[in-house]
Amino acid sequence: MAERLRDHYRIRDRRVLDAMMFVPRHVFVSEALQSRAYGDHALPIEANQTISQPYIVARMTELLEVDARSRVLEIGAGSGYQTAVLSRVAGQVYAIERIANLAREAQARIRSLDIHNATVKCFDGTLGWSAHAPYDAILVAAGGPDVPDPLLVQLKVGGRLVIPVGATRESQRLVRVIRTDDDYVHEEHGPCAFVPLIGRYGWTNE
Ligand code: SAH
Repeated sequence: MAERLRDHYRIRDRRVLDAMMFVPRHVFVSEALQSRAYGDHALPIEANQTISQPYIVARMTELLEVDARSRVLEIGAGSGYQTAVLSRVAGQVYAIERIANLAREAQARIRSLDIHNATVKCFDGTLGWSAHAPYDAILVAAGGPDVPDPLLVQLKVGGRLVIPVGATRESQRLVRVIRTDDDYVHEEHGPCAFVPLIGRYGWTNE
């Protein structure tokens, strides 16, 4: 998997590749899917949600440009796989998941891997998590119609926010927002397809 990420998908950040090699993806899927855990695809998890394709996890992590001192906010923890990858490259990870069962299981898997710098809580992540703000980096793993305002507010100056944004629920473009002293710079990083971001500053219902 790491070879494909490096040679085919051109993931360059050594720390991201190391994290992808370190975190066992099979721990984050159901037993029936474990033989497919290292394939090049997203897989279904509970509650009609998905664990993202390894490439997209690596790419989004790389775009965040975090280091061991970074404080990261993640929205849409799902299985907890992306959370675990982030915990290897960042200092502290605060993850939010709106479905209670998923949040609970994600947290349990993370503890079972002896990861102690990541917390998963259940609430609407489009509101951000102001108690730990501002963040060096924010990753949103579900597609919204726009970049939620509270997340922009909770981003440090110089910080990076990566989110799939699309006018419909079905397809998005990966967007990176960098906060400068007095502005927000938007970059586009290609098409992608995520499950919808549902909440106050996302889509309104299922
Ligand atoms: N990175 C995850 C992918 C999970 S799919 C993984 O590796 O497994 C996206 C997740 O976003 C879903 O679990 C969905 O329930 C969650 N989600 C959608 N809207 C949300 C919101 N407003 N706040 C928190 N989580 C949300």
